[in-house]
Amino acid sequence: MALFGIIGTKKDNVASSVYYGLYALQHRGQESAGIVVNDDGLFRLYKDSGIVNDIFDRAAMEKLGQGEMALGHCRYGTLGTKGHINAEPIVVNHVKGRLAIATDGRLVNSADLRRELEMAGMIFHTSSDAEIVSYVVTRERLRSASIEEAVNKAMDHLKGGYCLLLMSPRKVIAVRDELGMHPLCYGMREDGQYVIASETCALDTVGATFVRELMPGEIVVFEVDGSVRSITDHCGKEKERLCIFEYFYTARPDSEVCGRSVQAARKAAGKMLAKAHPVEADIVVGVPDSGLDAALGYAEQSGIPYGIGLIKNKYIGRTFIAPGQDVREDKVKIKLNPVRSAVEGKRVVLVDDSIVRGTTSARIVRLLRSAGATEIHLRSSAPAFLHPCYYGTDIDSRENLIACHYSVEEIAKMVGADSLGYLPLEDAERIAEGSVCGGFCTACFSGEYPTEKPTRYVNKFDKKISESEDC
Ligand code: AMP
Repeated sequence: MALFGIIGTKKDNVASSVYYGLYALQHRGQESAGIVVNDDGLFRLYKDSGIVNDIFDRAAMEKLGQGEMALGHCRYGTLGTKGHINAEPIVVNHVKGRLAIATDGRLVNSADLRRELEMAGMIFHTSSDAEIVSYVVTRERLRSASIEEAVNKAMDHLKGGYCLLLMSPRKVIAVRDELGMHPLCYGMREDGQYVIASETCALDTVGATFVRELMPGEIVVFEVDGSVRSITDHCGKEKERLCIFEYFYTARPDSEVCGRSVQAARKAAGKMLAKAHPVEADIVVGVPDSGLDAALGYAEQSGIPYGIGLIKNKYIGRTFIAPGQDVREDKVKIKLNPVRSAVEGKRVVLVDDSIVRGTTSARIVRLLRSAGATEIHLRSSAPAFLHPCYYGTDIDSRENLIACHYSVEEIAKMVGADSLGYLPLEDAERIAEGSVCGGFCTACFSGEYPTEKPTRYVNKFDKKISESEDC
């Protein structure tokens, strides 16, 4: 999921800045998007299912209008929270004022918190963490002198891998969980506006200069008078555990996460992969987009020429939504096309960023075979995905993880490859060498979870809400 916020001292076209910021962060979630503008305490919200470009047409932007500050969100539907009803940001009115909230990641104790709140009489309209956070923060606000104090107290109750952006009438508040599982940074524009974003690439897009990343556990309060304040009560309580998958897949290659270029990390992964799983071949082909840099690294290390063997339709996002139910066309064919002249008669090393369910790899291998590749050696720049992730993906059960059920040889056979090799687990953290990060979450590969696992996700009622109101 993607977070983007902006705050200045004067009224400005903040909605369009958020639009461009979210546009840069679209890769982090395509299920829904929303922007809320704060115009001198009046909040205007617009959100819908779909991608940024489709949602925010001229009429939507005109409705949002100008303001001193704004928040934006792109949603990736985690299990149990899919559907239009869960679009963010959410805006709530409480006794002390108004609050907008947007979240990234996932709480592992959401079910427990929700039950506790429901037993205290709260009524939920969604199955999102944002609504839980809104109740926890507004409850604390009743016994706090300020909204940031309430957020600080609320953090005592929130467990998991999350980042938050909150907006009150006069402040934008950015929060990173104690484990620092997801990235969050801020920058400054020449005109003095502060910009907060999940990734540095979004700061570049709106012309903001990177200031720094939030520390794990940190709350940064940006006020409409231009002041910035850091609250560090929760810092250092836990060992840092940045999601290592940010480097392999989630983040954009032109972003820096914890001071480490994502592109450089992917190239390093490709080099390590070439050392661990060498093979005689004629060409190294990367799967666009997130496999390309690892393929370059593999080629550099192995000395096998790099080639562009697959072309991705530029107008397709990470999730292609096919119109109509009975789509006969293979979705991978709509997204990717092999370059026959590059692969025909050749032994191909095919590098992808990860293999989760195995369906994508099988289709791509088939495409390359149909274009005349004589051998296909599949290499995954990430280690085998063996354990569910509870911190913001929809991969929260072992059921669909191909590596849980089959051996490397069996998977190679199933996807139609001549051989298969994963980055060894011991190399996973090495790709981030040079980062300023104090530690990583590698749970999806290693099974070492930095928190307790969630006991349950969605109760029957949640399911009914999200299904019946899905648009
Ligand atoms: P598959 O093996 O068919 O599940 O597809 C694997 C591909 O899905 C990878 O190459 C990634 O590009 C992409 N992928 C990896 N992790 C995720 C995720 N959490 N959500 C959506 N797509 C993902």
